[in-house]
Amino acid sequence: MATATIERLAGELRGALGAEQVIDDRARLRTYECDGLAQYRVVPALVVLPHSARECALVVRACAAAGVPFVARGSGTGLSGGALPHPDGVLIVTSRLRAIREVAPADERAVVEPGVINLAVTRAAAPHGYYYAPDPSSQQICSIGGNVAENSGGAHCLKYGFTTHHVLGLELVTPDGDLVRLGGPAPDSPGYDLVGAFVGSEGTLGIATEVTVRLVRLPESVRTLLAAFPGTDAAGAATSAIIAAGVVPAAVEMMDALAIEAAEAAVHCDYPAGAGAVLIVELDGPAVEVEAQFAEVERLCRDNAAFEIRIAADDAERALFWKGRKSAFAAVGRISPDYIVQDGVIPRTALPEVLRRIGELAAERGIRVANVFHAGDGNLHPLVLFDDAVEGEAERAEELSGAILDLCVAYGGSITGEHGVGMDKAKYLPRMYTDDDLETMQLLRCAFDPRSLANPGKIFPTPRLCGEVPGRHRGAHPLQEAGLAEVF
Ligand SMILES: Cc1cc2nc3c(=O)[nH]c(=O)nc-3n(C[C@H](O)[C@H](O)[C@H](O)COP(=O)(O)OP(=O)(O)OC[C@H]3O[C@@H](n4cnc5c(N)ncnc54)[C@H](O)[C@@H]3O)c2cc1C
Repeated sequence: MATATIERLAGELRGALGAEQVIDDRARLRTYECDGLAQYRVVPALVVLPHSARECALVVRACAAAGVPFVARGSGTGLSGGALPHPDGVLIVTSRLRAIREVAPADERAVVEPGVINLAVTRAAAPHGYYYAPDPSSQQICSIGGNVAENSGGAHCLKYGFTTHHVLGLELVTPDGDLVRLGGPAPDSPGYDLVGAFVGSEGTLGIATEVTVRLVRLPESVRTLLAAFPGTDAAGAATSAIIAAGVVPAAVEMMDALAIEAAEAAVHCDYPAGAGAVLIVELDGPAVEVEAQFAEVERLCRDNAAFEIRIAADDAERALFWKGRKSAFAAVGRISPDYIVQDGVIPRTALPEVLRRIGELAAERGIRVANVFHAGDGNLHPLVLFDDAVEGEAERAEELSGAILDLCVAYGGSITGEHGVGMDKAKYLPRMYTDDDLETMQLLRCAFDPRSLANPGKIFPTPRLCGEVPGRHRGAHPLQEAGLAEVF
């Protein structure tokens, strides 16, 4: 992209929004060069911080008119390079769109701007007896707009569902710069589920400027236990046994021995000594139901070789159980200079087998893997440890990461559970989908964004498919040829 185009655009946006909202100073631009996946860095050509949906639309319209790509950024905690800037593009940062417009307990919903921090929604709803259920471990800092774009999950999504189950309506700026509304305050709008299509679209279909979310009633009772097992086989079997018994806990989280070691070093969570794996199981709901099911869960853990079970006596002890789990990603930095946070899904019942295979693959390559994950829904987070200073180790870690994803696919799972595809996993998408599948997805993307200006280079492998090449889909799609679909 010619520098002159960006300079013209910067001037136009400064005139419309004010100088303070437009950044083109190289040193300041570098603040935005990566998201949570810091091994990829690209300095954007321009950063703009709109204060309102109208300003956001104005920026996107200006980009569309100039043919300049744009990337949305919330808090920049994404772990797949989704908010990685485009070197010739504009990064549109939503951090100034932080108003909570409405909390309506009687309607069990809230209306928020996209830059609102996830936990702020719960804080606003709690005095009314409600909370926002999807709880990524990054909830103290990630934005609702980012959650929507990634269809984020969290420890309590086992019982309550992912972000997509909690978004009722959206206002968004299309890649042409139009402000439109999808869905609404009432559940289940007629017509195509465009809200569903937008949630999880990773910034490739436009920018969300307002989100109507569902609020959930705070439970009457919450009970949490920490169970220590000799290894991941037993902890995996206990997880399956709990669900098979018809109990749906709010959360079932697992950490293996290496993840426990890291958490102990970082936050001294004091988990049972000698544990090869721990499970944190949390039940919530009506007190009578929780009491009955809690006893059942305890029994199932013991039946599956748990050698110590601790029950949180109060909120402080519950917080300590969770502290180890929630700090585990960062804690791994204590035991390894570098690591890859992997994210894949497998059927829950395959947990023992797949964890064993991961251990074997890691041993074959001389690489350590720590596992800390949402066991209840089979969402693995293998942390692949390496030392970049050791020649060839980063490459071996990357190769092992890919092999783990192959394993997930082979067991009928997925290459990502909640962290998205972004730019990091675009290369892995063909391991799950055929060319026809990918091109069919591109038809949807091209319907929203025929010029591929919204977050290009993300999700889809480059450069073969239509979304990565400016202009409409090239050549007839198999569904078109069969007369089953039309490109418009
Ligand atoms: C320590 C840690 C723990 C984490 N734990 C979890 C977890 O438990 N579960 C989980 O799911 N994730 C987790 N994550 C990943 C991350 O926090 C989530 O993906 C989160 O939703 C990203 O939000 P963000 O505001 O930081 O988005 P960003 O990183 O800024 O952007 C993410 C994507 O969303 C797009 N985007 C941002 N705002 C908008 C918008 N308004 N409209 C359209 N597109 C937009 C961007 O273009 C990008 O593609 C974790 C990350 C860290 C660092």
